[in-house]
Amino acid sequence: MHQVTHFIDGRRTEGTSGRTKEVFDPVRGAPQATVPLASEAEVDAAIASSQAAFDGWASMNPQRRARILLKWVDLIYTHMDELAETLSGEHGKTFPDAKGDIQRGVEVVEFAAGAPHLLKGEFSTEVSGGVDVHSMRQPLGVVTGITPFNFPAMIPLWKAGVALAAGNTFVLKPSERDPSVPVRLAELAIEAGMPAGVLNVLHGDKTAVDALIADDRIRAVGFVGSTPIAQAIYTAAATHGKRAQCFGGAKNHMVIMPDADLEQAADALIGAAFGSAGERCMAISVAVPVGEETADRLVELLEERMAELTLGPSLEESSDFGPVVGPDAKARIEDYIGVGVEEGAELRVDGRGATVDGHPDGFWVGATLFDRVTPQMRIYREEIFGPVLSVVRAADYEEALRLPTEHEFGNGVSIFTRDGDAARDFTRRVEVGMVGVNVPIPVPIAYYTFGGWKASGFGDLNQHGTDGLKFYTKTKTVTTRWPSGIKDGASFVMPEGS
Ligand code: NAD
Repeated sequence: MHQVTHFIDGRRTEGTSGRTKEVFDPVRGAPQATVPLASEAEVDAAIASSQAAFDGWASMNPQRRARILLKWVDLIYTHMDELAETLSGEHGKTFPDAKGDIQRGVEVVEFAAGAPHLLKGEFSTEVSGGVDVHSMRQPLGVVTGITPFNFPAMIPLWKAGVALAAGNTFVLKPSERDPSVPVRLAELAIEAGMPAGVLNVLHGDKTAVDALIADDRIRAVGFVGSTPIAQAIYTAAATHGKRAQCFGGAKNHMVIMPDADLEQAADALIGAAFGSAGERCMAISVAVPVGEETADRLVELLEERMAELTLGPSLEESSDFGPVVGPDAKARIEDYIGVGVEEGAELRVDGRGATVDGHPDGFWVGATLFDRVTPQMRIYREEIFGPVLSVVRAADYEEALRLPTEHEFGNGVSIFTRDGDAARDFTRRVEVGMVGVNVPIPVPIAYYTFGGWKASGFGDLNQHGTDGLKFYTKTKTVTTRWPSGIKDGASFVMPEGS
């Protein structure tokens, strides 16, 4: 078993806390490594390193910073296969899907390399006699990102890419379940010319996270993970007077209208529900067919397709999806399937007890389908985060619209229809942050922003896009009048624009 290291001040650093956690190989169903869990002293050292790097990085001309980021992107592409293999090996998602994870992260770094343009301030001349005003966006200082297991490359790159482009230095606290890719990414950043300390990676649990949030040198907290932790971190960060954006769990619906191409909708649902074993915050976990006829036909098409799915080792080309991340995830998902049965949902395909030849101990959960799920059931209300799709039959469009709108979560939603009026009405009225029309997983592209509503997101700015740059910078506004313009003597009234 190898030992994962932190990455502090430009090099791999062994943990000194004496506390570690096992990292599993989900295909073998056995530990493959240990990851150190940082102590408060190690958190202090990581922040001190990023603090020391801040002045140099923040005052570097932004185009030079962007050049380093683009070199980093080049190196990530060069090492894509190696990174994807490591990622698959710890997470369990397939090799092509792991490449997608990295690619979607890199796209945000590419976007962020436009920071020299994106960070330009505003200027107004002659707002009063001889008076000009300009604004500038300045980096915050040392900022942190605390990220989940399900996108171990994409989400760290989303956060670090934008924060670094804006001139901040960054302490990343990635998930301890699949910690190796973030360390390798930080190593590649050094190779790209990023100064030591600009990007530090520190592994840990609540001890490390609490210490990061409480430390005065940390100026902003970016979090992605489950809703209870997102909410707790948002509250703690606010108590410490710092800005925070904390994204949480999801329960994403797909509405299938009677006029939709049902074959296309069924294909889309299969990929969106079971890809990455359902461990995506934008996975579809609820299908809402409108009308009994649509529902009967859709369930039939889903069953046909599910019979063809291949559950298998992450690195085998034939696998449609791989194991779930760990034994606790497998137990939780299988428990939920049991709950669904007890609650009276109709279990059409049961993924419990799935096996894969040659890998008897892997964390396998097969694709699972429930029909006639109702909004009162726990399997509808709660996030399962596994390959479990629930069909909730809606009598009409208004009922279908109400379901995602009234659900506690509001991350993603999708409608499949050929009717432009219905699609337009749906996109306007649904209370969800990211909407797809005939697109099952509407993850916005890098230059738009990503963020869920309601219990899926706490904070008022989204990730990446222009919101990301706003989150990781503060605005300073300067009002200027030179002595030659001052001719009106002392004034004792409030300056105003009339
Ligand atoms: P998680 O909440 O268990 O962990 C997320 C991060 O928080 C990890 O770095 C973890 O080490 C840390 N953490 C865990 N417990 C903590 C505690 N008590 N105090 C402080 N820090 C703690 O989430 P996960 O299981 O890694 O990821 C899956 C969850 O993330 C799902 O709920 C999924 O929907 C959500 N997610 C949301 C988005 C989004 O954009 N909304 C994106 C990806 C994943």
